[in-house]
Amino acid sequence: MAIVIQKFGGTSVRDLNRREIVARWVNKAKQSKDQVVVVVSAMGRRGDAYATDTLLDLISGKERSPAEERDLLVSCGEIISAVVLASNLRDLGLKVRVLSGGQAGVITDDNFGDARILEVEPTVLEGLLAEGTIPVVAGFQGRTVDGRITTLGRGGSDTTAVALGAALHAAVVDIFTDVDGIKTADPRIVPDARTIAELDYEEIFQLANLGARVIHPRAVEIGRQFGVAIRVRSTFSESTGTWIASGHGTLDPWAHRDPDHSVTGITQLDHLMQFNVTPPSSMLKDWAYHLFMALGENKVSVDLINLFPDRVYFCVPPEKTSITKDTLENMGYTFEAYDDRAKVSVVGSAIQGLPGVIGRVMAAMAQSNIDILQSADSHSTITLLLHRHNMEKAVSALHRQFHLDEEVSRT
Ligand code: ASP
Ligand code: MG
Repeated sequence: MAIVIQKFGGTSVRDLNRREIVARWVNKAKQSKDQVVVVVSAMGRRGDAYATDTLLDLISGKERSPAEERDLLVSCGEIISAVVLASNLRDLGLKVRVLSGGQAGVITDDNFGDARILEVEPTVLEGLLAEGTIPVVAGFQGRTVDGRITTLGRGGSDTTAVALGAALHAAVVDIFTDVDGIKTADPRIVPDARTIAELDYEEIFQLANLGARVIHPRAVEIGRQFGVAIRVRSTFSESTGTWIASGHGTLDPWAHRDPDHSVTGITQLDHLMQFNVTPPSSMLKDWAYHLFMALGENKVSVDLINLFPDRVYFCVPPEKTSITKDTLENMGYTFEAYDDRAKVSVVGSAIQGLPGVIGRVMAAMAQSNIDILQSADSHSTITLLLHRHNMEKAVSALHRQFHLDEEVSRT
């Protein structure tokens, strides 16, 4: 008997119609003799009564209220969702039991609002599975060692599902959502974007980090660490979805050592602030060291850092603009700041060490007359910083350049 984790996102449990579809998926797994653990997100999106954002909107002066209190509030969203879905599962005659994250054994640190899972104590869940009960677990939450309720960061129900999958040695963690799987590009930009049949942890991690809002990066991190097979699939269709698992299927990222087909997916991030900073002439020694230490002390995380002997370019998220400007001004640096930037990235494990990939990226930009303002790369990514107005054009051009609209076997 295999253990299967089924995680259902907010849109999948939004209303009774949808929850009845969810209940059929749970029932189907149970009928095929799997041991099932269900993990749920809060119901719906902002505006729906018990969605995470709706709950947060209830309190005034959000920034002033302690993070621990906010966690108490939003953790109710997943608990409500679990209790309601459990009632729908009982309607099908299934034996279920609702558990909060803490009751399910999810132990975290005390970084309220963005807690990390320290360990999962699986005994309660194992006991329920052994007696044929389906645990319905509130996602996105845990408890500290001393019993205080925490949440795992926005989108954290994915993390709960994969962490439970790791602790229970599940055969698969199914992330049920409202799209068919992970796409070669954002379908709002590229209508003929395809669903990727399989990708490896590195690729999904990079896609998630570089803008694709498909699965929580920390869920991928845990998946990679413990070798959990993850599948992203639609609640509302029979499509096979996207497998994320090195070695689980037949994926061979090296099968296409051909630069034209070396890219797996394209992603974008909007609204970045770009800074171009030069040091004051009185501070030529160690200027970059002082600059980045000061930014770090002010909790500014910088990205796309291109350092030259006499200047540095970097980006920060828009909410860090004023603290970054204040820091630079106080230290006497000269700088320019641009608020109309976006970054577009190509991701593929096959990029590593393959000549010709960056040439093709440049070809796509040249043919579309797109100026590149900065770039960065890793063994599986190439990122371009562009003017915001070129973002969509660049994503489409790269999608064509790397033939991502064509069905390609990677096995
Ligand atoms: N409900 C939480 C959120 O909106 C967690 C999740 O949906 O995964 O961030
Ligand atoms: Mg989500």
